[in-house]
Amino acid sequence: MGAKILVVEDEEKLARFIELELIHEGYDVEKAFDGRSALEKAESGEYSLILLDIMLPEINGLEVMRRLGKEFPTPVILLTARDAVMDKVAGLDAGAVDYITKPFAIEELLARIRVALKLHPVSDGMADKKTDQSSDEEGIYRWHDLCLDEKKHRVTYKGNEITLTNREFIMLKVLLTNQDIVMTRDTLLEKVCGYDYVGETNVVDVYIRFLRSKIDEVFDIKMIQTVRGVGYVIKSE
Ligand code: CA
Repeated sequence: MGAKILVVEDEEKLARFIELELIHEGYDVEKAFDGRSALEKAESGEYSLILLDIMLPEINGLEVMRRLGKEFPTPVILLTARDAVMDKVAGLDAGAVDYITKPFAIEELLARIRVALKLHPVSDGMADKKTDQSSDEEGIYRWHDLCLDEKKHRVTYKGNEITLTNREFIMLKVLLTNQDIVMTRDTLLEKVCGYDYVGETNVVDVYIRFLRSKIDEVFDIKMIQTVRGVGYVIKSE
């Protein structure tokens, strides 16, 4: 059986043309003419690839991408209008694997489809399996016996749960994901409190003190190190 492709294009003639070409190449094809039905069909997960026009009635292609989410496993090739550079950028940012500019030569579209199918195979209906290996560890950051699980919003040391506030949690995550890199107070402030934070930079020192009192002191370890005059670091060794 050929790969199944969802063609989302509101210009029905163009959709039909693409459909015929794809069938000719041995693909199974379904069509959707608007964003809403595209979303419904896409979410069924039964396609190997989705061709998605950006300019669609109701929900446009970029919004469809956003709603599917970055983790959506089916590769998407966007159909964009010429010169719509921002759309292309936004589309790729939203997780599209490729785009093709209208009007296009059908050979080019077919070539791009072949490449996308090769680079982004969706294993028969088991779309998530591909990333299983890493998904167990995804969002999990470790330092020695300390473990921060982002999805569960949970921090443990040798299995002992440590209760952190949201900002302490973010601060710890930033330090753990940047091990051996000295994080300046400004950087930490920005990451923990946001760009628009107005206030004392010493809130960073305050959160570090909280973290140390909940982790370093309780378990008698030296995890967070001070780099005088610069900031803080968690060293991997
Ligand atoms: Ca259109």
